[in-house]
Amino acid sequence: MDRIKVEAPSASYDVVVGTGLLAQFEELAGPFLTSGRVAVVTDANVRDLHGAALERAVADAGREIAWHVVDPGEGAKSWQGLEALSDWLLEQGVTRGDHVVAFGGGVVGDLTGFAAAIHKRGCGFIQVPTTLLAHVDSSVGGKTAINSSAGKNMVGAFHQPALVIADSDCLATLPNRELRAGFAEVLKYGLLGDADFFDWCAANGAALLAGDAALRRDAVAHCVRAKASIVAADETERTGTRALLNLGHTFGHALEAATGFGDALLHGEAVALGMVLAVKYSARTGLMSENAAQHVDEAIGRAGLPTAISALDLDADGATLADLMRHDKKVVGDSIPLILLRGIGAAFMQHDIDLADVASFLDQQL
Ligand code: NAD
Ligand code: ZN
Repeated sequence: MDRIKVEAPSASYDVVVGTGLLAQFEELAGPFLTSGRVAVVTDANVRDLHGAALERAVADAGREIAWHVVDPGEGAKSWQGLEALSDWLLEQGVTRGDHVVAFGGGVVGDLTGFAAAIHKRGCGFIQVPTTLLAHVDSSVGGKTAINSSAGKNMVGAFHQPALVIADSDCLATLPNRELRAGFAEVLKYGLLGDADFFDWCAANGAALLAGDAALRRDAVAHCVRAKASIVAADETERTGTRALLNLGHTFGHALEAATGFGDALLHGEAVALGMVLAVKYSARTGLMSENAAQHVDEAIGRAGLPTAISALDLDADGATLADLMRHDKKVVGDSIPLILLRGIGAAFMQHDIDLADVASFLDQQL
């Protein structure tokens, strides 16, 4: 078991990464629980697949679980979802000193974290992530949010968990497509700041995706360490360090918006395409070699992730996508900031990227 410390300015906490951790839930989380009833938020898939294991661990310690089960999918991260959860936490009598448990993927984590941030002006919460994406990204760092009609993650708060328990065994039941989508975020850590880790991912990706639990655990621990140091340096994305985690995301969000934020393109798949676009755009402007760009493209493709936006069924041209990118960055003018690369492992933020140039670049890719 790895215990990785996140030392953010507002809070410090452990991220425990390993196998067999659900069975050790009481030992790990017990010190944070103040009542015999543990409030656990999950979605129906996770409840069916892993609920009994968590129930057993809690029962062994003489506690019981009060479940709040949401429908799987992004729809739970809504005003209605938040209202239902907030009302439920009040009904359950969860106090400010209690810790609510978020047991699921990024959707459950983001919704529960935000509900905890506002419950009685802030109660604690524990993340028990169950998707690869949530292990390496969303469960760590304290960004919580719901979606609104204005867009994804538009209403939220920074609220750090008190503990994160990332049990690699949970990933065994994850559908292959979700696993690959999460792996895009793993590759992202290498691409943005760690060429050696990128090479490690390229070499071990196939075995990791095929089910090697030790490789999964190692990759998660590596990514969590990287995220912990980024969050320690720039918890609330003020200095630009944390913004590097948005590599591939500005292009990616435009693609998600153009495909309706649905099953047509998962978030991680959009990030994979977005990283390929960021790399190609960097090569086009002479920042990075064509060879390196090709190498990235191939590594992403070998992980079974999409690399060509021409293969998407997009009803949008370059200008439309560029406009969606502006929307994502919430800017009004003709230029946006974008995370680009000087090479593998060398991402930086370039301000004032001309959207007309991005539009013509995208037209060439479509
Ligand atoms: P998700 O939570 O929707 O989970 C994906 C699917 O996998 C769901 O159908 C879920 O029921 C199922 N599932 C979860 N665990 C499973 C398991 N162990 N076995 C089988 N099925 C399982 O999606 P996600 O990809 O985990 O998270 C995406 C969300 O995370 C988005 O809303 C995104 O905005 C958010 N996010 C937040 C941050 C952050 O910093 N807060 C970072 C990245 C992404
Ligand atoms: Zn992401």
